[in-house]
Amino acid sequence: MTAVVEFESVSKVYPGGVAAVRDVSLRVRRGELVAVTGPSGSGKSSMLHLMGSLDRPSTGRVLVDGHDVARLSDREVSALRATRIGFVFQQFHLAVGVPVLESVADGLLYAGVAPRRRRARAAAALERVGLGHRLRHLPHQLSGGERQRVAVARAVVGEPAVLLADEPTGNLDSASGATVLALLRELNAAGTTVVVITHDREIAAGLPRRVELRDGRLVTDAGAHR
Ligand code: ADP
Ligand code: MG
Repeated sequence: MTAVVEFESVSKVYPGGVAAVRDVSLRVRRGELVAVTGPSGSGKSSMLHLMGSLDRPSTGRVLVDGHDVARLSDREVSALRATRIGFVFQQFHLAVGVPVLESVADGLLYAGVAPRRRRARAAAALERVGLGHRLRHLPHQLSGGERQRVAVARAVVGEPAVLLADEPTGNLDSASGATVLALLRELNAAGTTVVVITHDREIAAGLPRRVELRDGRLVTDAGAHR
């Protein structure tokens, strides 16, 4: 079965010489739910950025949905990112003063979907994350957990091949965090491939596959579908 994300001996050395990712090989298959753990500074975000084609490896190959990121033009990388990858970050990144329906619809701006269709799909995505009754709300009128669910809706509205989440529960109280995590599991059960960074051992322990980084190296890969 094809891998949604594949790393072949990937390293990332930042200008200045920090080796954030060291010789990591990894394959995420369609339908997987993978937790990435490791101490602060171990390279988790760097790895996720490489998975999401936000960055290119220094050495090795990164394939996203079968495409070798290094061989694509900037335009092709943007298109890949817009259509095949959904991101969720710790800070929700919702535009101030923009109703949530529009924020989510904007997730389809570069996917070649007509405006009216964008709003219909955004409403359906918000329904999916349990916010069908909040379409006209502004971000500041929502709780942290609700804002993160909006961010998840925006990330999945284009039905990406993979949802990449970097500490999505990091800014939430434990109850809201649990709700967001339950949502990621639900999306995964419905077919979305998910990679989620978490420093919460309890959260990680409950997920089917756990990858652990230390000093940029992959030191554990447990519970993978093989
Ligand atoms: P984590 O997400 O596990 O905390 P990061 O991937 O953010 O780890 O960082 C890994 C290492 O790379 C750290 O030493 C960090 O300081 C360094 N780093 C991250 N981003 C950059 C960057 N843009 N430029 C230089 N060094 C960076
Ligand atoms: Mg990080």
